[in-house]
Amino acid sequence: MSVFTLDVLEKELTGAKKVAIAGHVRPDGDCIGSCSAMYQYLKLYGNELGMEQVDVYLETFGPEFKIVPGVDDIRHSAEYEETYDVFISLDCSSIDRLGDFIRYFESAKRTICIDHHITNDNFADVNHVIPDVSSTCEVIYDLMSYDRITRDIATSLYLGIVHDTGMFRHSSTSDKTMKIAGSLISKGIDFTRLIDETFIQKTHPQMKIMGQALVDSRLLLDGRIVVSFIGTDMMKTYDVSSTDLDGIVDQLRMVKGIEVAVFIYENGNGTIKISMRSNGIVDVSTIAHKFGGGGHVKAAGFTFEGSVNEAIEKVVPYIEEQLSKAK
Ligand code: AMP
Ligand code: MN
Ligand code: MN
Repeated sequence: MSVFTLDVLEKELTGAKKVAIAGHVRPDGDCIGSCSAMYQYLKLYGNELGMEQVDVYLETFGPEFKIVPGVDDIRHSAEYEETYDVFISLDCSSIDRLGDFIRYFESAKRTICIDHHITNDNFADVNHVIPDVSSTCEVIYDLMSYDRITRDIATSLYLGIVHDTGMFRHSSTSDKTMKIAGSLISKGIDFTRLIDETFIQKTHPQMKIMGQALVDSRLLLDGRIVVSFIGTDMMKTYDVSSTDLDGIVDQLRMVKGIEVAVFIYENGNGTIKISMRSNGIVDVSTIAHKFGGGGHVKAAGFTFEGSVNEAIEKVVPYIEEQLSKAK
């Protein structure tokens, strides 16, 4: 029985002795889930393809993800002197999103990209990108043989699906997504704990800064856009870092009547990060792409060199343009 259901993947990995896996900067649930699932899978079955070493790289992430299987083995820096036969990029729409781990991509003999971002620019030797699918974890599920998926691998895959679908609410959730989630549950995973601890629970400072962002939010364009901003001074006040701001933009999206939620924070190096969420009419991925970022139709982001006001002044007209076309 082959290890992977996709011939090109099986072929590329056959004979590869050293394999690296990495995901995007500021890893989210789908990134952590897909990297840990692929890592565990290759650790268990890679030997059938001749694999001798599998390493996984991701930037550091919050302690809430410590319950995900396989994460203890993740390397958090690019200081390791390694060269790989195959490098697998997961949940990354472009090469720069690999951050420091780009060095392993560039020195690898062959590169594979598995992803679901509509803005993916097919930067690897082999690209398996399916934009309509909910998550990279859902893409990966289809590449694995069901009988080989252990409970731990199922936990990692479920994590990514839950996070990228916003707990099965986003429109990327298909009937197939639900069937896959069901089949992962039948592996005996503790999904209640997984969802509670990685998605729902927040530390008190995280909850407070979200409250601050909501209080400070403003409506633009007659209430069709909601915008909020958190600066580094505010992060200091609440003793949080930018990774503690996840979820704020999704909360802003819940404002009744808005089409787009925009959340901005300072990176602390002179740049700012812009996250956008759309309720359907506006394609925010095309807007993010204009500024060198990317994402999905309803969730996208980019990094901007300039002030918050400048970013808003530049982004709002693009949203306005799309809204007026849709009228
Ligand atoms: P975020 O707003 O950071 O939660 O990201 C929303 C979506 O946009 C995710 O799928 C990200 O992978 C993507 N995204 C966010 N920032 C960037 C960026 N700078 N470049 C490319 N894609 C991004
Ligand atoms: Mn992601
Ligand atoms: Mn994803």
